[in-house]
Amino acid sequence: MHTVRILFEDNRGVARATLFVVLALAPLAASADLRVFVCEPEWAALATEIGGDRVSAFSATTALQDPHYIQARPSLIAQVRRADLVICSGAELEIGWLPALLQKANNRDVLPGSSGYIEASNHVLRLGATGNVDRAQGDIHPRGNPHIQTDPRNIAAVARVLGETMASLDPDGAAFYRAGLDDFLKRWTDAIESWERKAEPLRGAKAITHHKSWVYLQQWLGIEGVAHLEAIPGLPPTATHLGKLTSRFKAGGADFIIRSPYQDARASEWLSERVGIDAIVLPLTVGGTERARDLFSLFDDIIDRLLQALHDE
Ligand SMILES: [Zn+2]
Repeated sequence: MHTVRILFEDNRGVARATLFVVLALAPLAASADLRVFVCEPEWAALATEIGGDRVSAFSATTALQDPHYIQARPSLIAQVRRADLVICSGAELEIGWLPALLQKANNRDVLPGSSGYIEASNHVLRLGATGNVDRAQGDIHPRGNPHIQTDPRNIAAVARVLGETMASLDPDGAAFYRAGLDDFLKRWTDAIESWERKAEPLRGAKAITHHKSWVYLQQWLGIEGVAHLEAIPGLPPTATHLGKLTSRFKAGGADFIIRSPYQDARASEWLSERVGIDAIVLPLTVGGTERARDLFSLFDDIIDRLLQALHDE
C-alpha cells in the first residue's frame, strides 16, 4: 500500500533516471491527477500517504541536501510550472531559492496566497520567533523555527490542511483524499502514542545539536537542548565556539551531539572525541537514513537512535 513515489533530482542528474522509470511505469498505475511540488521530502511522503496513486509528488530537495541552501535550477522551475500544488515548510526556510523558482515558473495556480500554495509552518505553533530582521546578525529563522516536521503532531496538523486542499483542487478525488486522510490520521495517532511510550526514557535527556533543527522534537519528547555547534545559526561551527563547548562539556552535561546527514561530521566528531559524548546522526526527513523510508519509519529510526545513544552511555 505504501508505494512512496517521490521523484528526486540531484546535481548529477541521477534522479532524472528515476523520473524516467516512473514515467515509463505510469500507464500501468492509475493516472496521477494531482501534481504536487514540495520543497522538502516529508511533504512528498505526506501527500503520497493521503493521495496514493492519485498524486505524483516531486521534491526539490533530498534528505541529504540542506534545504536552506539549494540552487533554483531550470529543472526545478519546470516542475513548479506544471504543478497543481506547492507545499513547503516556509518560515523563510526556502527564502534563498523558492521565491526565484515561483517567479520564474510563473504558474499563478501555485503562487503564495492562491489555493495551490501551502506554507506548512503557518498551520502549527511556531517556536523561536525572534523578529530579528538581519540574518547576518545571527538568526536565519527570524519568523520562527521552520523545521516543524520533527514533531509528528505538526505533521498531523499539516495533513489536515493538505488533505482538504487536495480535495478542493481535484474534486473528483475528494472522497478518496478524505478517506486517505482519515486512514493516515488514525494510523498516525496510534503511532504517536507508541512513540511517546517508547521515548519515555528520553525525557530530561540533554542534547547538543549542530543546527537548531530539532527544537520541535525536543519539545515533544521533553529533551533539553543545551547547546548548538553553530555559533550563528546557518553558519558553519567555528573553532572558537567549539573550544568553548569543549570547556563547558568536558565534565559531561549532555547525552548526545546530534547532526543531520547533510551536515559536516567534523565538528560533532571533533567535540565528541574531546568531551566523550556520543555524536549521532538523525534523519531530519524521509530518506535521511536507509531505514527512514516513509514518515512512520522516520520516527521509528529517530527514536531508536536516540535510545541507543542513551543506553550506550
Ligand atoms: Zn534552520
